[in-house]
Parts: sequence; C-alpha cells; structure tokens
Amino acid sequence: MPIAHSRSPLIHGFWLRRYGIKGHYVPIPVMPEHLAEVLRALPRMGFVGVNVTIPHKEAALTLADIVTDRAALIGAANTLIFRPDGKIHADNTDGYGFIANLRQHAPDWQPQAGPAAVIGAGGAARAVVASLLDGGVPELRITNRTKIRSEQIRSEFGARVVVYDWAQAGNMLEGAATVVNATSMGMEGKQPLRVPLDALSSGALVTDLVYTPLTTPFLAEAQQRGCHVVDGLGMLLHQAAPGFERWFGQRPEVDDDTRKAALA
Ligand code: NAP
Repeated sequence: MPIAHSRSPLIHGFWLRRYGIKGHYVPIPVMPEHLAEVLRALPRMGFVGVNVTIPHKEAALTLADIVTDRAALIGAANTLIFRPDGKIHADNTDGYGFIANLRQHAPDWQPQAGPAAVIGAGGAARAVVASLLDGGVPELRITNRTKIRSEQIRSEFGARVVVYDWAQAGNMLEGAATVVNATSMGMEGKQPLRVPLDALSSGALVTDLVYTPLTTPFLAEAQQRGCHVVDGLGMLLHQAAPGFERWFGQRPEVDDDTRKAALA
C-alpha cells in the first residue's frame, strides 16, 4: 500500500534521536488481505505497536482486542499498541491531534465560540466531528459530495449535527466560528476545493487537514479574507505524540524542530 511518502518515520525518527531512545519506526506496506496476519506477526518480531493508515484504519479496529471509546465512535483506528499480554489495543488520535494543533497555533480559539463547518465526511472528518462535539461546539454543520456519508454522521453523532447539500456548501459558512476542510481536495496533484468563501466571516478560524502544500488554495483565500488560518501539518505531529508515548515511554514535545524534521 502507498506509504512511501509518509512523514511519520521522519517525525518518530526525530523524537527517537532527540530523546536518545534505541528504537525504530519503519514503514511497512501491507496489502489489505494480509493485515490480520501481519498484525499477529509483528508483536512476535518485537514490535510494540504501529500506526495504521488508509486503507487499514477500519479493519484495524475490528482486529483489535481492546478499543478506546473515541476509536469506536469514529469507527477507525490509527494507533495500535501491542500489549505484553498479547492483546492489541486500538486508539484513534486524529481528533486529539486536530484539537491540539488548533490550541497550539490559535491559543484564543474556543470550540464553544460558535457553529463549526466541516467540509468532507470521510474517516478524518469523523475524527474532527467527534473532537469538535466533545469540545463543546454548539452546532456542527457538515457537507460532503456524497451526501449519505454526512447523513450517516448525523445519525451517529446526534442532534447538534446539521447536514448541508454539497451545492449549498458556501451557505454553511455564514456565522461559522470554525471552518475545516476535511476532504482531500487541494492536495498537490488534486483539484482545489471549490467552495465559495463569500459568506466566511473574518473572525473565523480556518484550518485544512491537507498539509501538502502547507498553504492550500483554500487556506490562502481564507487568509486573504482576514481569517486566522492553521495548516494541517501540526495535526499530523500532534496525532503522533500519544502513540510515541505509549510505545517508547516518553511524551514527545511538538515544537518547531519537530515541524522542521517532518518537512525535511
Ligand atoms: P477519505 O476517508 O478517503 O475521505 C476523503 C474525503 O474527500 C471525502 O469526504 C470525499 O468525499 C472527499 N473528496 C475526495 N475527492 C473529492 C472530490 N473530487 N470532490 C469532492 N470531495 C472529494 O480520506 P480521509 O482519511 O478522511 O482524509 C481526508 C484528507 O485528510 C486527506 O487529504 C488526508 O491526507 C488528510 N488527513 C490529514 C491528517 C493530518 O494529520 N493532517 C490526518 C488524517 C487525514 P466523498 O465521500 O464524496 O468521496
């Protein structure tokens, strides 16, 4: 599976060197049909855990013995811990990373300040929705090209979720205090996100999960409109921290040097 461009080995490798830990973090491409077998073999080879990414995030959850509440709610895992008793513990740290990134780069931001607008309803969007609802957003507006996925989120996450048609995505930005691109649009080599930003208020905090490029066309336009923008790289750094701590026993600091290491 395509993980050659993953930045996670750079991030964990940097922390291992920084804290003088004799450990390794290696990319392992795995076909979906081999995931169960690989997850059984890795602890026997001395691995203490793994990150799992697309397309394994949902399957990893079903293969785990113990699942955190947040991973169960999101329906996907990104961090697995191989416990000494042989059990696989699954967590999802994407929502944690999302909030921690905003807290670090927009310290005045409050999820309670007003409605949040989430564009996209894939796996990452589900983690974002869970974390924003947990953080106390009064209303969570969501839109997705495939509407049934946003409707599914409303039925699972409850009454604060309001679904907008994809064609009406621009309208959902009216009065929103937090605006998130959780689609893959705007990524290098893909079309930019084409949601009209006319209704966006300059007081909104705008963030993008896409971090290649760091400043997506969506973030650039929001910045021009006077919004506080936060790029998605910090989410990647912060979602990595809980796994590193569980595997290697050291809470890593997410700072500028970590960011530079991820961009190397
Ligand atoms: P996913 O489950 O495959 O979801 C993809 C999302 O993008 C869906 O909402 C999909 O809409 C939408 N989309 C794709 N192509 C589209 C198009 N041409 N027009 C409109 N919408 C389109 O992927 P994911 O795991 O949620 O990841 C989404 C993005 O977040 C990716 O770029 C990923 O790299 C990024 N991400 C970043 C972090 C971070 O730490 N910064 C963490 C996780 C993910 P449909 O449902 O209609 O297909």
